[in-house]
Formats: sequence, C-alpha cells, structure tokens
Amino acid sequence: MQPFNYQRVTDAQGAVRAIGAAPGAKFLAGGTNLVDLMKQHVEQPAHLVDISRVDLARIEELPDGGLRLGALARNSDTADHPLVRQRYPLLAQAILAGASPQLRNMATNGGNLMQRTRCYYFYDPAYGQCNKRKPGSGCAAIEGLNRIHAVLGTSSECIATHPSDMCVALAALAAQVRVRNARGERMIAFADFHRLPGSSPQVDTNLRPDELILSIDLPNGPYADHSSYVKVRDRASYAFALVSTAAALELDGNTIRSARIALGGVAHKPWRCEAAESLLRGKAANEASYRVAAEEALRGARVYKHNGFKVELAKRTIVLALTLAANGETHQGEAA
Ligand code: SF4
Repeated sequence: MQPFNYQRVTDAQGAVRAIGAAPGAKFLAGGTNLVDLMKQHVEQPAHLVDISRVDLARIEELPDGGLRLGALARNSDTADHPLVRQRYPLLAQAILAGASPQLRNMATNGGNLMQRTRCYYFYDPAYGQCNKRKPGSGCAAIEGLNRIHAVLGTSSECIATHPSDMCVALAALAAQVRVRNARGERMIAFADFHRLPGSSPQVDTNLRPDELILSIDLPNGPYADHSSYVKVRDRASYAFALVSTAAALELDGNTIRSARIALGGVAHKPWRCEAAESLLRGKAANEASYRVAAEEALRGARVYKHNGFKVELAKRTIVLALTLAANGETHQGEAA
C-alpha cells in the first residue's frame, strides 16, 4: 500500500471542505472495497478523508411517506430496519443476498453505491490492459476470460459489470441519491447515478469528485406486497451475481397495474428495464406475460466468447422473479 495522508472529519460540512481542498482525495467509510483496492495498488489516493463519524447513519421517514436511508447506515442495519423490511422488502432481500454478514456489518449504504467492478483484469495490475484502471491501455476482457462480464450497454472500451445487489433493488425502486458539496445539495435520480462505460470507463458514476453522498431516498410506492430479488451465482453464498433480477408488481386482482424490473450482473450499471415494465402494464400476471417482458428486457444484448449463457439465464431469472413477486414469495435460499 502506498503512503497516504489521513484526515478525520466529524460533520458533512467539514467533509466537503476537506475533499475540496485535496484534489484526488477519497472518502473513507466502511472501507470494505476501497482498502482492498489500495492494498492491490489499484487505487492509490494520496489523501483519505475519514467520514465514519459524520452523523449520516439515520434511517427515517420522509414527509411524503418515503424513507431516507443515511449514507453511513450499515448495510446490515438497513436490511434489518423494521420500516425497510415492512415497506421495501425487495431492498432487504437484495442487501442480504450480497457479501457476508461481516462485510455487511462494515459496509455503508453510500459505499455500496461507490464500489467498483470485480473484473479480474481491473483488480490485478499485472495485466497491462484495462481502460478502467489505466485509461487508453485497452480491455483485456474483450478477447480474454469474459464469463462474468456484461451483455448490455457495453462499449469497445469496457465490458465490466457493476457488482452490487443492493443497487439493483434501488434501481427498481427508483431511489434518489441526495448529495452535497461546498456549494449546496442536489438530488440524482438513481438511474443517472451510475454510468455506462462509453469512451471513459474509468468514471463509474456521475457523482462529482467534491461531492459527498448524504442519503438514499426511497419514494413511497405500491410494491411492498409483491416483490422479489432473485440472484444466480456460482455458489450459494459470498459470490457476486452472474445474473440477478429485482422485480416488483402492483396488482389489481390478477391484472398488473404497474411493474418494476432491474437486472444485476449484466451491465456496467444496475439495468432498469422500463420497456419491459411497460409491456406488463394492464396484462395478466402469468408466465406468458413475464416471458414477453423478459424477451424485451434482453433485446439488444451483445455476447462475448464466454458469457452468452447470461442472456437466457437473465430471461429465466426475470420470469422467476416476477412469478415469485406475484405470489408474494421470496427466492429460496435468500433471507426474507
Ligand atoms: Fe478493464 Fe473494463 Fe476491460 Fe475489465 S472490462 S479489463 S474493467 S476495461
């Protein structure tokens, strides 16, 4: 690990002042991804601003009936919070499908949004080609081992996937991210928070370098009774998704009033499937409807040498997640 300056701050104002005064500095909270990347010499910030004592860990109701998740609330506390379990069980399921209990006890909500891809070539500086780690160097994955890589929204510069489970649920729930810098606050729609790789895959998000995540705001929604998170991975726990689906339905009897579908493990960002959602509106809640939506969701998928299986797997995962959501069931093997 390279030497770095360490600075602890105790409030949000001090945090944005500190990051604004040290170009290239990074915020440190749970450290579950950043410290790993520093040990691997992938991230080498000269200055760390420790925000772990800033008062941003509360989970509280919003006046419009939504829920505000503090950026520094731990993933485990968020998944276990009574209001999250009651009103946003999809989010609780997704969080509990990720990482391990030990990691969830350390990892924060804001940090979950900021975690970086687990592409093998990105994580190992022994590989010279990685546009995300070293812009302009190429992409070793496109002609290399790409079984875990993306099939949607890729570019000729990068085919990495976003690793988070929590973020897939947040995409389906249309969360908002509240951020601030020294000039004030702004809200970022969750769909706009993460980026596709395009020609600058080294930039993962639309968060500005001097901005601090304050909270993740969940809108009041009609999906508490019918939602499900399905994650398919190589082993039963502590593995990243090959494919995952967050699905939620608003039902009127057996008719779908509205639907939400987001995919993980298939793109550089959590992949919301709005065209597929609109196909479900007004349709019967049955397998035939779900299959049509699944076909639409994967339209335009582009596969590489080792990851073609993800297209059919994603379609089946969508059908399963919608079926479980309609039945008010949880995916077997995931904590409720
Ligand atoms: Fe790097 Fe992206 Fe290519 Fe992986 S897929 S090697 S992260 S440029």
